[in-house]
Amino acid sequence: MELLWLLLPVAAFSGWWVASRHSGQRSRVRAKGGLSADYFKGINYLLNEQPDKAIDVFIKVLEVDEDTAETHLALGNLYRRRGEVDRAIRIHQNLLARVGAGDSQRFEALLELAQDHLSAGLLDRAEGLFSELVEGGHYKVQALRQLIDIYEQEKDWDKAIAVSGQLEAETGLQLAPVIAHYRCEKAEQAKRANALEPALEEIHKALRADPDCIRALLLQGDLYVMQADFPHAASIFRQLVKKDSDYLPEVVERLRVCHQAMGTSAALIPYFSDLLAQHGGISVTLNLVELIQYERGVQEAIQFMTEHLQRRPTVRGFDRLLDLEKELGNQPSPPYIGIFKELTIQLMEERAIYRCDHCGYSAKSLHWKCPGCKNWNTIKPIQGVQDE
Ligand SMILES: [Zn+2]
Repeated sequence: MELLWLLLPVAAFSGWWVASRHSGQRSRVRAKGGLSADYFKGINYLLNEQPDKAIDVFIKVLEVDEDTAETHLALGNLYRRRGEVDRAIRIHQNLLARVGAGDSQRFEALLELAQDHLSAGLLDRAEGLFSELVEGGHYKVQALRQLIDIYEQEKDWDKAIAVSGQLEAETGLQLAPVIAHYRCEKAEQAKRANALEPALEEIHKALRADPDCIRALLLQGDLYVMQADFPHAASIFRQLVKKDSDYLPEVVERLRVCHQAMGTSAALIPYFSDLLAQHGGISVTLNLVELIQYERGVQEAIQFMTEHLQRRPTVRGFDRLLDLEKELGNQPSPPYIGIFKELTIQLMEERAIYRCDHCGYSAKSLHWKCPGCKNWNTIKPIQGVQDE
């Protein structure tokens, strides 16, 4: 904080010093023979903790030229980083007003000003400035990245797709997996509006961009379910299991629902048993128990669950067993069953079931873009002893 305040008078002083040394050649010299009264007025404001007035005075004192433009930029950035965006904007705007049209520092000032507006949440203005930089071919890659960020925030997926294409062309980066997510976002918008055909079209485009897009496959299956096309949905979900077993917890319930709707759930029991043997996991276990109960009754489900818990005890499994015992209901259950049930509910509530591979962010619901590190496709269901 104190260091930042020091920068202002130092910058003003160095401006004066440089100016006075070149006073022979330069006509800009204001304070011939000494520091201007304004300079001391500025220091006074600083000492009285009136930073806004001090900035006004120092901005007036500061000559903008090759030597001091960097100081303006550095000062503005410091303010932005401290969250004092209004001040950063004033400093960068002042700089922009004073540098020449062809000056290299003009574009740097534009970039900084755009970032100030972005930090202040003034997305429209930031968008305008970043677009100006892209069109002018200055700081293009940086500006394109920021534009993508803005369009993501605005949920303007068409523009996000277009700008990502530009960034790919500019850098050679492979952005197809991210573009597929933008398509999925569009599909989800259409799905919410019950426009199933346009949603499916977007999914096809997403899968053309990235055939391994798990989210697109899940959505495609869900859309088929909404159209009551269960055979198609089930085949998509099985494809998904083959592609990436990490997402098994997301798929098994969907598969069970499809087969129950088709009346073919008995055929799913051996398939789920195989999945359980290969991958383990509580989601597969719970859905298998559900099928056993549905096909063979509660008694068999309890027997399966008990044997499974002896080998692999989990809170969610135990919770399911308590429910099954209650459903059996042929004898009054002892009062401690209720206490166990409360305990399992509490334990499950506190537990995150998704985690980011990249930064470790954990969540209770599936995010396709990590809220922690802002990466796409890094959050997965946790597959561990405790949870899965
Ligand atoms: Zn992350």
